Amino acid sequence: MASELASGAVTSIGRVPDHTRLPDESVGGSVPILNRFKIVSLLREGEQLTSGCSDTETKIKIATALSDFGIEYIELTSPAASEQSRKDCEAICKLGLQSKILTRVRSSMEEAKLACDTGVAGVEVVVSTSTEEFSNGKDMADIKKTALEVIAYIKSRGVEAIFSTEEGFRDLVDLRDLYRTVDQAGVTRVRVADTLGCATPRQVHDLVSTLRGSVSCEIETHFHNDNMCAIANAHAALEAGATHIDTSVLGIGQRNGITALGAFLARMIVEDRDYVTSTYKLPQLQALEELVAEHAQISVPFNNPVTGFSAFSHKAGIHSKAVLKSPSTYEIIDPADFGVTRNVHFASRLTGWNAIKGRAEQLGLAMTDDQIKELTQKIKTMADTRQLSVDDADSIIRSYHLELQA
Ligand SMILES: [Zn+2]
Repeated sequence: MASELASGAVTSIGRVPDHTRLPDESVGGSVPILNRFKIVSLLREGEQLTSGCSDTETKIKIATALSDFGIEYIELTSPAASEQSRKDCEAICKLGLQSKILTRVRSSMEEAKLACDTGVAGVEVVVSTSTEEFSNGKDMADIKKTALEVIAYIKSRGVEAIFSTEEGFRDLVDLRDLYRTVDQAGVTRVRVADTLGCATPRQVHDLVSTLRGSVSCEIETHFHNDNMCAIANAHAALEAGATHIDTSVLGIGQRNGITALGAFLARMIVEDRDYVTSTYKLPQLQALEELVAEHAQISVPFNNPVTGFSAFSHKAGIHSKAVLKSPSTYEIIDPADFGVTRNVHFASRLTGWNAIKGRAEQLGLAMTDDQIKELTQKIKTMADTRQLSVDDADSIIRSYHLELQA
């Protein structure tokens, strides 16, 4: 797919955009593309976290890791933000990474030129369509005229043009006409953003479906996670025909962030394991998250999908027994796909004899089922009086086994 993208012969969803198509004509039916999506990872959004990483060396390290992981697009902070941001953009473009590098600008010729000069593969043009701005006299005709000039310029530089509005869910403005116009002007993609984090999966599905019926280009979506809907919203967007999902590592970003890369992949591997495992180097996820966590000075949450320390921990006896026999009983994701291991917690009062049996086997100690059951009772009794560590439980298992030999 990367070479297809590089050649420009087909779009990233394997279809030549048809800009001659009539509006509202359906695009390739409404088949959800749950197995063909592309990920845009936002270093820019990460930088917007209060403790976000921003020095050049760190950005290069993270961009390289994202590219190695298989991320299709990396979006950087606008070169118009500061001189250092411009230099960083240029430096990352020069690395020749597998990922395509994007940046974003306001709808201004000056900023678009600055962005194209850095060597990026794509420039996202963001316009504000807030009702406030309309009341300030900047009406849709002006917005459209400037956007079209800027898009034409970006295309003339051989760079992908992406068109975005700042907030697609709150404003009561019908954006369809604007998106149709830029689609006909030949943008690679349009992007809708839930910048406020207010959208629900149903609203997302409605809006993206409408958009899917109105434009023939790719559709990128961006969801903030203020009430933990970002993953569900990304999934709903794909079901409705979106092609690209914005993510950041660990979901870091403005306020409490956006769709988290790892959590999104945890969702999508359930949809299509073959696509996800063949497209992304999943065993590198944990190292990627640790790299970003370290530089952003945050820690990976205990319940983080896939890599959180309790993501594949089983404690209650009945769960442990089932998981030891057949992992899929209590696991929708195979930890081995991500190179992480299952942890059956056996050193507690909730343990079961199957968990103890499994542990005894790991320790190379053979015992009958009756002996294991008696040993399990001992561990439960002990765990009722005080908290046991793994070492404590192991030494109870070992001394019980030793007594049997005596
Ligand atoms: Zn955002």
